[in-house]
Order: sequence, then C-alpha cells, then structure tokens
Amino acid sequence: MSQCLFCQIINGELNATIVYQDEHVVAFNDINPQAPTHVLVVPRRHIASLNDLTDEDDQLIGELVRRSAAIATSRGIANGGFRTVFNTNRDAGQTVFHIHLHLIGGRGMHWPPG
Ligand code: 5GP
Ligand code: ZN
Repeated sequence: MSQCLFCQIINGELNATIVYQDEHVVAFNDINPQAPTHVLVVPRRHIASLNDLTDEDDQLIGELVRRSAAIATSRGIANGGFRTVFNTNRDAGQTVFHIHLHLIGGRGMHWPPG
C-alpha cells in the first residue's frame, strides 16, 4: 500500500534507521523512542492489524517475535529484560495501520502500562 508509512519505509521511499532486514521482516528504530532501545519489527507484507491475521500468518508472526528477541540479545538487553507490544486499534493507541511489534528496552519499566 503506497500510502502506508511503514510500506514506504520498507520500500525505501522514506528514511529510517534500519537495524535488520530479510526476505520477510524489516526492523527499524522508532522515530520517537520511549527507551534507549525502541525498535519496530514489521512484516514486509502489508497487514493492517492483528485483527487481520489468518492461519497462514502464524509463521510470519513467529518470525517477528523471534527477531525481536534476537535484536534484544544483540543489544545486550535480553537477560535484563525487554518489552514487546502490538498495539491494536483505538483503545490501544494504534496510529500506524501496518502491523509492528514494538521492542522496548534498556531501562526499567512499569506494569500495568498507561
Ligand atoms: P503505534 O502507536 O501505532 O503502536 O506505533 C506507531 C509507532 O510508529 C510510534 O511509536 C511512532 O513513534 C512510530 N512512527 C511514526 N511515524 C514514524 C516514522 O515516520 N518513522 C519511524 N521510524 N517511526 C515512526
Ligand atoms: Zn503498510
């Protein structure tokens, strides 16, 4: 979807600091980081939200989750801990409708979130 912000980043039409990419997954720094590490891990394929997933996406979602842990390991924050979040729709504050897994870490965090 050419009007989608994250599709534009994936296609190289919009700048972002890419920290990982492969055939299915791209990860880049959040423009407004909420912690020392704040990476968005996204599928190359446009999927608007978790509400739009099908059985065929199980492998892809697994790749997003495992990649977030691998990035945390590479940053040295895996043992200390990190948070992974998918925001879905209005009540969760989703603002970009291309699935993205927030990887947030490098500082202590509170629970429940705001
Ligand atoms: P959401 O609220 O939809 O879960 O998260 C969207 C995230 O995308 C926010 O954390 C926001 O800072 C980030 N974001 C919005 N626009 C851009 C952009 O143009 N570039 C990058 N790298 N991140 C963005
Ligand atoms: Zn998209």
